[in-house]
Amino acid sequence: MATPEVDGREVLEQLASLRQHQQDGRRSPHKPLLVLLALSRLAASGSSELPWDIAEQELADLIQEFGPPSRTGRAQSAAFPFTRLRSDGVWTLDQDVPMDKVTPLRSGVTGRFEASLEAALRSRPGLVDDVARGLVEAHFPATVAPDVLVAVGLDPELLHGGTVAPATSRRRSSSWPAQVLEAWDRQCAFCGFDGQVGGVPVGLEAAHIRWFTVDGPDELDNGLALCSLHHKLFDRGVLGLDDDLTLVVSQRFSARTPHGRAVYDLHGRRLKPRPGTPTPAVQHVTWHREQVFHGRPLAA
Ligand SMILES: [Zn+2]
Repeated sequence: MATPEVDGREVLEQLASLRQHQQDGRRSPHKPLLVLLALSRLAASGSSELPWDIAEQELADLIQEFGPPSRTGRAQSAAFPFTRLRSDGVWTLDQDVPMDKVTPLRSGVTGRFEASLEAALRSRPGLVDDVARGLVEAHFPATVAPDVLVAVGLDPELLHGGTVAPATSRRRSSSWPAQVLEAWDRQCAFCGFDGQVGGVPVGLEAAHIRWFTVDGPDELDNGLALCSLHHKLFDRGVLGLDDDLTLVVSQRFSARTPHGRAVYDLHGRRLKPRPGTPTPAVQHVTWHREQVFHGRPLAA
């Protein structure tokens, strides 16, 4: 009997539908982080099996680091996707436990991909990478995606591969990045870095305040020109903005050398758009504070 034809696109679409759980601009990377963790285990060991006692640590770490700021307890935050991913038809548990409850999971429950999905992922070389890339790109900006992959144990280089077209629908504006850099006079809005090579800005990027992956528009009032370092720190929730456009630095950030500690000096600095530059819209600044900024601001 012939091996059933495995359609990589079908697998991708099945897992890409997880993005629909993202609603009202609230980030919900819990299920994608669980899938990425299981993909990493599948790639490393040939099985996606994930015992709860490991998920309770590793998945909770991932959610704490890459999820939105939350007051939910660590174990509880991991129990949500660990139990609920079953209803997406891609995940099974070896015991019949109720949704969302932590205690029943501690009796040695193990999760894994649904059997046909796991078989499909195993049968196609490169499919694990394609699925991981599709998920991480759908939920995180390019500054954060490699960090997520490293944290789950996958190779960030997979972001540069690509055999299956992503199932994304929104198109990015190709002119938006250049417009943002011009609007901010080709300088980092936070530190003023304005390096150029041959008249072309280098190490300077157009940053979305509300992430493009969470419906952030390609509008000038949702953009900042930021140097590569400050773009990264802004997207990782280390740097944030008050409603009056004053920069805040998270207490979670630490550094030892004078250059590293220079980040602290940004705290309390006021953004100064030049005349004519659209000021960041308050709704985007609020979104970033609620969904991305992590920890508490340094004391003034
Ligand atoms: Zn900068």
